[in-house]
Amino acid sequence: MREIKHWLDGQAVSGTSGRQLPVWDPATGEQQACVVAATKAETERAVASALAAFPGWRAASLSRRAEVMFRFRELVDANRKEIAALVSQEHGKTVADAAGEVARGLENIEFATGAPHLLKGGYSEQASTGVDVYSIRQPLGVVAGITPFNFPAMVPMWMFCNALVCGNTFVLKPSEKDPSVSLLLADLLRQAGLPDGAFNVVQGDREAVETLIAHPDVQALSFVGSTPIARAVYEAGTRAGKRVQALGGAKNHMVVLPDADVDAAADAAVSAGYGSAGERCMAVSVVVAVGAVADPLVAAISERIGRIAVGPATDPSAEMGPLITREHRDRVTGYLADPGTAEVVVDGRQAPIASGPGFFLGASLVDKVGTDSALYRDEIFGPVLAVVRAETYDEAVQLVNDNEYGNGTAIFTRDGGAARQFQYDVVCGMVGVNVPVPVPVAYYSFGGWKSSLFGDLHMYGPEGIQFYTRSKVVTSRWPDPATSEIDLGFPKVR
Ligand code: NAD
Repeated sequence: MREIKHWLDGQAVSGTSGRQLPVWDPATGEQQACVVAATKAETERAVASALAAFPGWRAASLSRRAEVMFRFRELVDANRKEIAALVSQEHGKTVADAAGEVARGLENIEFATGAPHLLKGGYSEQASTGVDVYSIRQPLGVVAGITPFNFPAMVPMWMFCNALVCGNTFVLKPSEKDPSVSLLLADLLRQAGLPDGAFNVVQGDREAVETLIAHPDVQALSFVGSTPIARAVYEAGTRAGKRVQALGGAKNHMVVLPDADVDAAADAAVSAGYGSAGERCMAVSVVVAVGAVADPLVAAISERIGRIAVGPATDPSAEMGPLITREHRDRVTGYLADPGTAEVVVDGRQAPIASGPGFFLGASLVDKVGTDSALYRDEIFGPVLAVVRAETYDEAVQLVNDNEYGNGTAIFTRDGGAARQFQYDVVCGMVGVNVPVPVPVAYYSFGGWKSSLFGDLHMYGPEGIQFYTRSKVVTSRWPDPATSEIDLGFPKVR
């Protein structure tokens, strides 16, 4: 059985715990590899390696650090296909979807190459007579990232590109469900000229995460995953005195107003609801159909579902792959088995591929979903799209705002005034106007509100640079010995 290793001090290292976690092939249902969960000692070794590398990497000039990012960008670009293939192999998403993930990751590397500009401080000359005041941003030290299964290449890049270019050293704890790509990225960073120890990978699960949270040499934690774990990591991390940004789950609503183009809205709902089999934190999982648009919209979505090709990533015509594990697929089908008073319009369990050995489920559509049902409240994280019918715009906005999560939302309309009002009204971190998956470009920052994010700063982009640095303010005087005198009063500026 192929063993997926750790990455410590610039090389792949076998795990010693003997605690093997299975890595499945979601398309066949067979185990394809195992990952050996890190012990406390191995995780501590990764932190020690990052700590030892910190002074040297911090001292590297800004242009040198940016140069490493430029080279890393070229290497990721040259290896796009290999990275995407590895993502597909363990995650199960289609190759085209995985290629999109790599492309969005590349944007984050490109943003990080601009760090010399982003790390400029402020300077106030003559704040007092002969006194200048200026601010500088310095790295934190060793920082750690804990990432989810659904974007095994992109989400780590959301974190480590900015962290490294700011002069920090990094310990990544990837998802144990699709861990191989982390090693490929580590090797590309090494080839790009990153010093050994500046980037380490510890494979594993809760035990490794708890060691990172408790470790006094870890200054900050970036987490992306489900809401209960995000909340727990945030609480434990901040209690341990660390800076923490913890991004959680979602239940993204797409509001369709009566004036929307029904075909365009149906195309968007299908793309955003079933892309990556719904395993995206920015997937649309609820369509709020306002007024008379509901019947034609449900008909248009169900007609399109019939044309979605579900299959393994090895089939180039496949548009939607399997779910990540059998347990997860069974959990998702549970919502179809018990829809309450809602109407199951398309039942993905009836797709022929759903009864095979892989973890497949066909695209599913459930109409007239009640807001008190588990199907509405829970993050399902699968290809199940719920339709909630609302009478008015106000009722639709209220649904978005009452929801526990506030990651993404979108409005479909031809009315600019309504769209502007929506962007003003919604309590949500990322908003799309006729755009169903409004993931911000790399030079903005990514983050939800409410139970979708714990912490103060969003991820990547300018807020990422802020997260991975702290500011220092220097007040400086170069006195002319001829004017020097003793003054025991409190320093004044006027
Ligand atoms: P998860 O919460 O199960 O796991 C995330 C990470 O936490 C993994 O590395 C895992 O090993 C670790 N972990 C699991 N249990 C832990 C525990 N008890 N203590 C400490 N660490 C633990 O999430 P997942 O299933 O890998 O990913 C899917 C979830 O991630 C969904 O809820 C999705 O919405 C969310 N997600 C959010 C965003 C975002 O930007 N908000 C992006 C992608 C995914």
